[in-house]
Amino acid sequence: IDQSLIRNFSIVAHIDHGKSTLADRLIQKCGGLTDREMKEQVLDSMDIERERGITIKAQTVRLNYIAQDGQEYVLNLMDTPGHVDFSYEVSRCLAACEGSLLVVDASQGVEAQTLANVYQAIDQDHEILPVLNKIDLPAAEPERIKAQIEDIIGLDTENAVEISAKTGLGIEDVLEGIVKYLPAPTGGNAEKPLKAALVDAYYDPYLGVVVIVRIHDGVLKKKQKVRMMRTGATYEVDNVGVFAPKATYVDELGPGEVGFLIASIKEVADCAIGDTITWEKNQTDKALPGYKEVQPVVFCGLFPVDAADFDDLRAAMGKLRLNDASFTWEMETSAALGMGFRCGFLGLLHLEIIQERLSREFDLDLIATAPSVVYQMTMTDGEEIELHNPADMPEVTRVKEIREPWISATIYTPDEYLGSILKLCQDRRGIQTELTYVGGRAMIKYELPLNEIVFDFYDRLKSISRGYASFDYEITGHRAENLVKMNILVNDEPVDALAMLVHRDRAEGRGRQMCERLKDLIPRQMFKIPIQAAIGGKVIARETLSALRKDVTAKCYGGDASRKKKLLEKQKAGKQRMRQFGKVEIPQEAFVAALKMD
Ligand code: GDP
Ligand code: MG
Repeated sequence: IDQSLIRNFSIVAHIDHGKSTLADRLIQKCGGLTDREMKEQVLDSMDIERERGITIKAQTVRLNYIAQDGQEYVLNLMDTPGHVDFSYEVSRCLAACEGSLLVVDASQGVEAQTLANVYQAIDQDHEILPVLNKIDLPAAEPERIKAQIEDIIGLDTENAVEISAKTGLGIEDVLEGIVKYLPAPTGGNAEKPLKAALVDAYYDPYLGVVVIVRIHDGVLKKKQKVRMMRTGATYEVDNVGVFAPKATYVDELGPGEVGFLIASIKEVADCAIGDTITWEKNQTDKALPGYKEVQPVVFCGLFPVDAADFDDLRAAMGKLRLNDASFTWEMETSAALGMGFRCGFLGLLHLEIIQERLSREFDLDLIATAPSVVYQMTMTDGEEIELHNPADMPEVTRVKEIREPWISATIYTPDEYLGSILKLCQDRRGIQTELTYVGGRAMIKYELPLNEIVFDFYDRLKSISRGYASFDYEITGHRAENLVKMNILVNDEPVDALAMLVHRDRAEGRGRQMCERLKDLIPRQMFKIPIQAAIGGKVIARETLSALRKDVTAKCYGGDASRKKKLLEKQKAGKQRMRQFGKVEIPQEAFVAALKMD
């Protein structure tokens, strides 16, 4: 294909501003799907994606469009994951395009994620076409939002398109805009050795591992022997194709084109996103820039409620991993929770998605321990270690310094919630770096320890702002802090699953809170139970769960037999969900609830 007739573009938007709806419209307009197939939103395929309104994995679609100039263009739409946890994937996806549509809800305006995403596109030197969506809504103010885009982002809105992705109004203008204002790929040379970017990979039950590629130089065909430059692995290409939007095989992919290859690759983990694919023998001289190894930043333990489910859990995680190489785990044994796994995630949302998929798709009942960040430690003997699990914290006397990851957070909120949000950030050891007003909204930047947001920061932010505040973050580095390991002891036994690293100044408060919570959550027993928080040998908070009086156990005396039976069944089911600890039974809910903060 003549490169001047190709347009590779992505759509950047804040959640709910209409990215998926617009993508569907573009696909519909360019044909390729029946109405019935169109009913299902094509680009968001997984259930969880649909419910949460986010795209988890990037997808790509080829559209054939005959423009008003009479030429037939090939438009490759690359859908990027919609969340900050996947920002590396987003960056690789954007690197495969020359331009972006910036979709902004004309009734809402620019949001935190709009900014984060559009800056990424600007970093990749994209030409950006603003698209004002939802102009069918009475509250739409396209002129005001255009001014906002110019003020805040500094983008020219002269060519901006006003549309309603819902009604279909203006879709043709978007397609014309893509052809007119977004650049074609340039510089690729079909005569040179193959140089292709590995944009993404996923597991398909019929095709095996499908690798999304963007060709820079050379021509990719089936039967060719290719090499992944980073991993060194070589494969014979079984097939090449494009998504139109259904997978369709083609003879070849040349410079500027986006498509996929299949090559009997066993696991997605064999494909390093951002790697360069070349020929096995006649190699390109230089790999493409921008490759980065992805590292998990948040860890938590996952344990089956019923120990008998351990093997099922292992199998389920193996299946998820087929499709998600960024999710890592190793076996872990906890005195409190039994056998399970220590899992690593790219971020909090990634963690939630995996947990949810395990329980939903695989029907597993799980206990998750508190999420923990990765701490770096310098030991007194000079050794450097990384701590993924607070339970593994070495003797304090051996530790010289502990460093924790810090983030830079951008929060965008209506004015009236500003006070409460500042307080929330302040309470979480935040350092304010910026506060600006745009229209009736405030944009706040904070530096915060990741440790302080992994519990429930996002939930709290949403609730104090009634859902109006938006939040985005990136990790900026590690800082040495006065961190200590806090143990929770129930009946004088430390509960490993509740151990955590906290800032020394916050330890008492957090310890007291945990003890109070647990006191309410742990059912009373026949004997008195001390619940304590301790740093080393020093108890910093203490509660006592009083003993149960005998007559309380004599519940449901009399009454009808079937009701009694029902209650007993309920009790039995409840008991199964309990974790026996020492002589004390801790219900699963206690672990979860105890770890939430106010
Ligand atoms: P995404 O999160 O950016 O992919 O947003 P979606 O495409 O999933 O859209 C979010 C919500 O906005 C959905 O309920 C859509 O039906 C709705 N929506 C999208 N475009 C329009 C539009 O042009 N007008 C109106 N009124 N609603 C729209
Ligand atoms: Mg979407």
